[in-house]
Amino acid sequence: MSTNADFTQFVLPTYGRFPLVPVKGEGSYLWDDQGRRYLDFCTGIAVCSIGHCHPALTAAIESQARTLMHCSNLYQIPQQAALARTIVEDHVQLPGKVFFSNSGAEANDGLIKTARRFGHARPQADGSPRFEVITFTQSFHGRTLGSMAATAQKKIHEGFDPLLPGFRYAPFNDLAALEAAISPSTAAILLEPIQGEGGVHAATAEFLRGAAALAKKHDLLLFFDEVQAGFGRCGDLMAWRRMAPEIQPDGISWAKGMGGGFPIGSFWISDRLIDDTRALSSLMNPGSHGSTYGGNPLACAASLAVLEVIVKDDLSQHALAMEELIRQEIAHWHFPMLQELRGMGLLLGFVLNADLVPKIEGKTPAQVIVSELMQRGLLTVPAGPDVVRFLPPLNVSRDEIRSALQILHDTFQSLTPH
Ligand SMILES: *Cc1c(COP(=O)(O)O)cnc(C)c1O
Repeated sequence: MSTNADFTQFVLPTYGRFPLVPVKGEGSYLWDDQGRRYLDFCTGIAVCSIGHCHPALTAAIESQARTLMHCSNLYQIPQQAALARTIVEDHVQLPGKVFFSNSGAEANDGLIKTARRFGHARPQADGSPRFEVITFTQSFHGRTLGSMAATAQKKIHEGFDPLLPGFRYAPFNDLAALEAAISPSTAAILLEPIQGEGGVHAATAEFLRGAAALAKKHDLLLFFDEVQAGFGRCGDLMAWRRMAPEIQPDGISWAKGMGGGFPIGSFWISDRLIDDTRALSSLMNPGSHGSTYGGNPLACAASLAVLEVIVKDDLSQHALAMEELIRQEIAHWHFPMLQELRGMGLLLGFVLNADLVPKIEGKTPAQVIVSELMQRGLLTVPAGPDVVRFLPPLNVSRDEIRSALQILHDTFQSLTPH
């Protein structure tokens, strides 16, 4: 039986899949079952942040797998403590505490639960708890019942109502609309500093600063979803620091790139005091949250190895330099099909002029270009209907960037009528 036939018969059809069967990866390259090599600027959607099968990551997993893979969170786990410490001290650089999950959606559920706890600890004037979380149009926060309700996209909700209550959606980068959305029951604001799935839209510095000021004024929590953008991808260890480094968020979620391919997610909660005696992080007390797998020795050893490479090799600065290289290289391109380049660091979106992309039944313009690039040996990801996303490994070389741009250039050229 072919892989394709097995998929059709045995796997729930929740994904439209490209006809590609990856069997091997090394650095920025992926090989399929036909022996064909691809330059991988999809990286499992921003997951393989230090490239495929990086020797440091492989060695860490091998060594930990031989020693102890899993034990319960009923016990002390040294790798988990070490990982939490490096996240707090080296990456967030603000006092707080970390919880480990297995995915980004779960990490966001943790933030939402923290908002609910906060709403009980700091209730409305009449004593009833606050509970509402404001999120933004085109956002993506995940597929669990909580993170799906936080995601302000109709297509993600379709057929799943009634949704979890307690969310209010506001237009992104619109401060006046955000202020208008705040009600007496609002407890938190949750946003992606750079929206990935929704089309690569960066928050403006003005919007982030305004959101932080509104949170302060109305006693709300400010949460950043850095599941895709965090840990070096956007040209700084933390994405929000690219826009407004002085902001001190109350919570942050991550997943994707922090495990380099090993499934792990996490969220951080600030130690700041919410009244005379209580730290915000203390609201998530024993019994309030949990995960059987979350933060086990194997996952934490893998993530520790990844974060160590990101810091030691200064990959956030490298991501910034690669963004500059890409912007320079395409500055002299003139393809009417290409409208603009959005994003930061190595979370970049080539925005298409949809009308000028050849039409293929059942495919969005971004899918048409992504398929064409795949034929030519370059893997990329659509972000919404009109954006082609570049998510190379953070340690991608200049030559690999140039090769990818050559393929993109040739593709645009061949699809432009002469
Ligand atoms: C991918 C993503 C998620 C969901 O992560 P999963 O690991 O798929 O649950 C949440 N937020 C953002 C910004 C993402 O890009």
